[in-house]
Amino acid sequence: MTTTTHALEELRSSLPSGVVLTEPDAMEKYRHDWSRNPPAGMPLAVVRAENAAQVQAAVRWAAAHGVPVVPRGAGSGLSGGSNAVDGCLTLSLERMNAVEIDTATRVAVVEPGAFNLEVKRAAAEHGLFYPPDPSSYEICSIGGNVATNAGGLCCVKYGVTTDYVLGIDVVLADGTLVTLGGKRIKDVAGLSLLKLFVGSEGTLGIVTRAILRLVPAPGPTSTLVATFPTVAAAAAAVVAVGRQIRPSMMELMDRASVNAVEDFRPMGLDRDAGALLVAQSDAPGAARVEEAALMEQAFLDAGATGVFLTDDPEEGEMFVAARRMSFHAIEARGSILLEDVGAPVPLLPELLAEVAAIAERHGVEIPTVAHAGDGNTHPIVVYDAADADSTARARAAFDDVMAAAIALGGTITGEHGVGRAKKGALPDQLGPDVMALTRRVKDALDPDGILNPGAIL
Ligand SMILES: Cc1cc2nc3c(=O)[nH]c(=O)nc-3n(C[C@H](O)[C@H](O)[C@H](O)COP(=O)(O)OP(=O)(O)OC[C@H]3O[C@@H](n4cnc5c(N)ncnc54)[C@H](O)[C@@H]3O)c2cc1C
Repeated sequence: MTTTTHALEELRSSLPSGVVLTEPDAMEKYRHDWSRNPPAGMPLAVVRAENAAQVQAAVRWAAAHGVPVVPRGAGSGLSGGSNAVDGCLTLSLERMNAVEIDTATRVAVVEPGAFNLEVKRAAAEHGLFYPPDPSSYEICSIGGNVATNAGGLCCVKYGVTTDYVLGIDVVLADGTLVTLGGKRIKDVAGLSLLKLFVGSEGTLGIVTRAILRLVPAPGPTSTLVATFPTVAAAAAAVVAVGRQIRPSMMELMDRASVNAVEDFRPMGLDRDAGALLVAQSDAPGAARVEEAALMEQAFLDAGATGVFLTDDPEEGEMFVAARRMSFHAIEARGSILLEDVGAPVPLLPELLAEVAAIAERHGVEIPTVAHAGDGNTHPIVVYDAADADSTARARAAFDDVMAAAIALGGTITGEHGVGRAKKGALPDQLGPDVMALTRRVKDALDPDGILNPGAIL
């Protein structure tokens, strides 16, 4: 027997049958995340853990044999974070998906493989609400959300995943399981280690349980859809609203993304609009009417050519669905490089103008959608992967968009994480001192560098 075969035998015998996969065909679907960027390696094995003890056993085995561990939720990530590296152990949490609602403390106790949608549904059965809502909420796991500190459409009012994480169980690089935080609304005992793990993209530990804060379900929602002659006018409207209120949603689609959606699935959107804003208010009582009126006025003042207001939830959801669909629609146009850059909200117009200038300079198409209310944009560079010149121009544009965000005091990623796709630009944003500090933290928690090597750092 070779050393590898021997080691795999040891792994198999330490876990129940069916937990360890080693056949290339069976492992194929665990290799890439959604972005397929950069290309992934081939795992040595995939462990589909059923409980925390199995996660510990797998990590202990990996540590003993110096095998890299790539944690994996649902693989909907957009930065290559759960892409396999050659010879790794991919640790899938998909089978650990229990959700329990504690109505007395108003928390959800969730295993990492449960989908975001399942937590929302379980909370709703008790009149409660789990706000973080990535567009992918039907296909992404809570473990992945915690590991990327996922955002979404309602962050502008409700914040991001970390704002709802009260506790986690984490398996460390040596297989130790620690519990950080708990069902306590207030708790400042010790260093804030819990927050260190949220957004660490599987590089510091593997989340095996999360305790998530729930809030009372909001009441009815008003939806506004406004068309603008230009992206600049729409961005100016977002800034004007942001100075006055926090809507529960403020999403932007530019003309190219509106047209991509209409080509993909016709929804009656205005193909001639320079940009579209989809905004919502879920403020209680009369405040909702006031917020809707304020937004309508701000949109008109910024030059909106049309504003449509509805209190009908189904009609409102139709427009939100169009926005959620934009990523799939743009994906259908060719190969893509997906950005996640953000800037302080008042600089949103400058960021979007920079993106347009970069598209022009490199002769590439960059349809853009944005969680505009919190300054987080998704310029999507579309290119022809079969054409070397198109690929080179797309790559250059991708780098320039991140550089432009950094130059504006913004970020290379607002919610998707650095993963493997954006790590080249991280030092430019953080600078040498913060990079060195990040490296010290990583080395302290994972001295042998087995956890998700090549992600973030
Ligand atoms: C159509 C579409 C729309 C999207 N919209 C949004 C959006 O609006 N907002 C947003 O934030 N994201 C969005 N995403 C990106 C993606 O859904 C999120 O990043 C999500 O949080 C990833 O969850 P996952 O379970 O798929 O994780 P994966 O892709 O499997 O993994 C993501 C990262 O988390 C790590 N990881 C996964 N589980 C664990 C764990 N239990 N412990 C430790 N590390 C772990 C992985 O190693 C990897 O680094 C979108 C994706 C798609 C395809």
